[in-house]
Amino acid sequence: MIRTRFAPSPTGYLHIGGVRTALFSWLFARKMGGEFILRIEDTDLERSTQESVNAILEGMAWLGLDYDKGPFYQTHHFDRYKEVIQQLLDQGDAYYCYASSEELDAMREQQRANGEKPRYDGRYRDFKGTPPEGIKPVIRFKNPLDGEVVIDDLVKGQVTIRNTEIDDLVIARSDGTPTYNLTVVVDDWDMGITHVIRGDDHLNNTPRQINILKALGAPIPKYSHIPMVLGTDGARLSKRHGAVSVLQYKEEGFLPEALLNYLVRLGWAHGDQEIFTMDQMVEAFSLEAVNNAPSTFNDEKCEWVSQQHIQAATPEHLARHLSLFMTERGCDLSQGPALELVADLLRDRAKTLIEMADSALYFYKDFTEFEANAAKKHLRPVAGEPLALVLKKFNELELEDWKAEPIHQAIQAAADELELGMGKVGMPLRVAITGGGQSPSIDATAELIGKDRCLTRLQMALDFIAARTEG
Ligand code: GLU
Repeated sequence: MIRTRFAPSPTGYLHIGGVRTALFSWLFARKMGGEFILRIEDTDLERSTQESVNAILEGMAWLGLDYDKGPFYQTHHFDRYKEVIQQLLDQGDAYYCYASSEELDAMREQQRANGEKPRYDGRYRDFKGTPPEGIKPVIRFKNPLDGEVVIDDLVKGQVTIRNTEIDDLVIARSDGTPTYNLTVVVDDWDMGITHVIRGDDHLNNTPRQINILKALGAPIPKYSHIPMVLGTDGARLSKRHGAVSVLQYKEEGFLPEALLNYLVRLGWAHGDQEIFTMDQMVEAFSLEAVNNAPSTFNDEKCEWVSQQHIQAATPEHLARHLSLFMTERGCDLSQGPALELVADLLRDRAKTLIEMADSALYFYKDFTEFEANAAKKHLRPVAGEPLALVLKKFNELELEDWKAEPIHQAIQAAADELELGMGKVGMPLRVAITGGGQSPSIDATAELIGKDRCLTRLQMALDFIAARTEG
């Protein structure tokens, strides 16, 4: 059984680069009919926060990246890590190192002075004497002294590292707590992870982890190291570049599958297809097709992808995600048309759900003023007569005929009677019933706003014009 994991450290928000790694792991597991595990790597007690754990869980839930097992917390596994560290000590693959930090500093200083790369020199590797007083030792892994580690990385290709380049890594701190490389190895082993898919900032750790796995007689998973996501300035994507927390994209009105679609195309291609449903993504995904070069995040492209998904979504799906933004804007959705219908009507014009929500307010909320510019231009004295006639014709429409087509006919009849072009009637009407100069087709818009509201607002526009004429 194929098993992948996403293993974030809860030391900040869930960022876009992390989400892409999670997505690739999830896609691969789903594609292969395997399992996807969520593991929270919270052993850094000082930097890990519950807030960050919550942000990870909320982000994964919003994105729909569901996990088959977990969330597991590494802080719940300390006994197991201790046990494995003891096993390594017992079998002679780990040892206590009593070097003080001053001693290690001096060692590195010396190495630098000799023009060498600073590294632990293995001075306690075969130590048999009496330990120095007053030092709480760390425990180090005995890395093999010769040979090499070969990683057949599914994204990077073959990477070979000589063991002489790897020093003896600390696996337990002097207070006994395990370090990152040890905990990852133990969990990947215990959880039966077959494919480790992670950011290529971890590539340096991989040969160390493989050596520890080998010492434990554990199977070695396959590795895929995913290149970084960069900002447009070529630097690794970070806070400086604006929205990098996944929840910020939620707040900015992106559909989750649109963000995932954008992220999957960053560094992965399937012919020249740009837009994927989640099912299509799963179907087409392969690790071999992941690009081995960093990719650049582009806000405009992300918005374009968002727009494509807004176009393609079912009205129900759009409405489900849109409702949050409507409520945020003080709309009572029971006081207006079904949100599905509104979303369907507005989808052509919106790049994000925020834009859609902002242009949907007049369906649910009454206004007390018309937008100044639109009113100045279109609610002029000449509009009084056509608006009054439209009001009369609207009034005569039976409630069951309050549909786009009869509404259209009523407006047309008013225009014909007064020998006016449709525009001369349509624009003032638009401003009257929506409050502003922009809306989808006026008949469909009027239908959804509802008869009562249209009549009230038309009267309000007539009063406005009358006041203006007098003034
Ligand atoms: N916890 C690590 C991180 O957040 C990931 C470890 C891994 O994937 O092996 O960067």
